[in-house]
Amino acid sequence: MENPLLNFSALPRFDEVLPSHVVPAIDTLVAEARATIEVLATADGEPTWDGFVEPLESANERLARAWGQVSHLNAVVNSPALREAYNAALPAVTQFLTGQAQDLRLFDRYKALAASPGYPGLAPARRRLVENELRDFRLGGAELPAAGKARFKQLQEELAALSSRFQENILDATRDFSVIVSDPAHLSGIPDDVLETARHAASKEGREGWKLTLHMPCYLPVMQYADYPALREQMYRGFVTRASELGKPEWDNSPLIAGILEKRAQVAGLLGYATFAQVSLATKMAQSPPEVIAFLEDLAARAKPFAQTDMAEIVEFARTELNLAEVRAWDVAWVSERLRQKRYAFSDNEVKRYFPEDAVLSGLFRVIESLYGVRVMPSRAASWHPDVKFYAIVDANGALVGQFYLDLYARDAKRGGAWMADARNRRRLAAGFQTPVAFLTCNFSAPVGGRPAFFTHNEVITLFHEFGHGLHQLLTRVDELGVSGIAGVEWDAVELPSQFMENFCWEWDVVSHMARHGETGEALPRGLFDKMVAAKNFQSGMQFVRQVEFALFDMHLHHDFDRSSDTVLAMLGRVRDRVAVVRPPEWNRFPNQFSHIFGGGYAAGYYSYKWAEVLSADAFGAFEEEGVLNPATGARFRDEVLGVGGSRPALESFVAFRGRKPRIEALLRHNGMTATA
Ligand SMILES: [Zn+2]
Repeated sequence: MENPLLNFSALPRFDEVLPSHVVPAIDTLVAEARATIEVLATADGEPTWDGFVEPLESANERLARAWGQVSHLNAVVNSPALREAYNAALPAVTQFLTGQAQDLRLFDRYKALAASPGYPGLAPARRRLVENELRDFRLGGAELPAAGKARFKQLQEELAALSSRFQENILDATRDFSVIVSDPAHLSGIPDDVLETARHAASKEGREGWKLTLHMPCYLPVMQYADYPALREQMYRGFVTRASELGKPEWDNSPLIAGILEKRAQVAGLLGYATFAQVSLATKMAQSPPEVIAFLEDLAARAKPFAQTDMAEIVEFARTELNLAEVRAWDVAWVSERLRQKRYAFSDNEVKRYFPEDAVLSGLFRVIESLYGVRVMPSRAASWHPDVKFYAIVDANGALVGQFYLDLYARDAKRGGAWMADARNRRRLAAGFQTPVAFLTCNFSAPVGGRPAFFTHNEVITLFHEFGHGLHQLLTRVDELGVSGIAGVEWDAVELPSQFMENFCWEWDVVSHMARHGETGEALPRGLFDKMVAAKNFQSGMQFVRQVEFALFDMHLHHDFDRSSDTVLAMLGRVRDRVAVVRPPEWNRFPNQFSHIFGGGYAAGYYSYKWAEVLSADAFGAFEEEGVLNPATGARFRDEVLGVGGSRPALESFVAFRGRKPRIEALLRHNGMTATA
């Protein structure tokens, strides 16, 4: 019988794919791709687009599409048999991709193509793809002499080991800490479900009382709700000293931080960069570390007065209403929660009744259709679960633009969270265009008892966010696989379309058309909407400067931090002097737990969160100026941003849309931080 994973003639045949198809299909496709690469890498003569890049892209695409289906099924309808098949096929895929990234014969062919007389005549998107390939080979050490290559590889391995150790230490230190509370009076304020878990955790160890831990579902509510200050202090101290010299020496991350910074500096040196921050930015939209630092300093200066007001309100509220003379680091979340409850008395459940699924989807589709001149139509395709919906996007002439699967509800055996993934990318083929297909996956509550599903406002925002990624993928007009849709988009610009879409959930013109009471059909009251907006901006100044503090610390650390004469804590202290409004106690060891930059992929990249927010808010600002659902502005956004994807630098796309470089005013305004607010 034919293996459905090897059929690329139409949409995936999800109703036919069995776990037993996975390994044979992946083995076949890896072998095919390897054979193609062998031919291409050893070919004589000058490489051309049609003779080299095109077949290489095709070989990779078949494997990526089949593996994409397998990964998707593994995430949304996991089963022991499928997991086993996935894990059995995974090493072959990983080895193939790693091998290709290090295949210097391919690097040479790309270089020869870039030097060929035909190269300048290639379409800009094609040249962009070749430039990206060359850059990635170089950043992978391809141009180093033999000794340098060995050293580079060794550094990468050492860095990977240090990062993984960094994470393990945090995990071990987190697990090791607990507080056993035996006096119920000390638990006042903590929600019942948290206490129930804590009681259970203690009794599992044969102990009386309640066991509180530093895991988020326990730590956060304790800090927010526990009325007993000594308990908050004890928990806070445990949390912020994890993996430091103040705990068990074998879990101290301080030497690992030093080692990681040292080795990253060596990597940068080998690749010919002055600092590791420059290596990080080589693949990003931001041009240089000083540009990022200036961007962050500017944000801090603009947000700090609002953060100071937020803090002053906390202090005042604590003094007058909570009888607390001094607000310490472990009091901030608790006082804030009291203040928030007092000011914004509405519940998420009250709001949720106004967002039944059908109203939300038609509200979302109305935005897309108004802005981009397309129509979203229900359609049919084989799928992996009866709850999955399938839609086609068609243009004004009825021609197919793209299609997407929408899998909204949480299920057992489905991975948590929300995400967009590509099932097929747009590309020009000899026979015409291949249209893009996307998976949109959420984990919202399923309908019960014949009633429709209802979404919280947060879930509505999540849905709009993922649709932003989806539209980037589906409305692309790029012909080349490697730079169409979100492929090849810089890391710090990829969230622009998604965060952009979130803004519509805060627009009365959009929400008032979308939200209606599930039973009475009554519209969302304006008063409730205004409260939602005010609650969204609660303490936004403080949250802003906190993110900026982390981002500045990260960028300085990887750019101009002097490891021989300075200390990490002293440098963080100086950043805080400039931007922070909450000064933690001197025994706070935040860097030892900053796993984004020491254990994950955010080194000299933490600024990206705020960077992308500025881009998306400023892009949305154009719609505020020209009409939130203005089709002309929508067409321009599609032409210059969504439609061009990774085919040109994100900054060029932004400037082409906005007529100027990004500015931070719109983001401040959306967060209630304007001079008149
Ligand atoms: Zn996103």
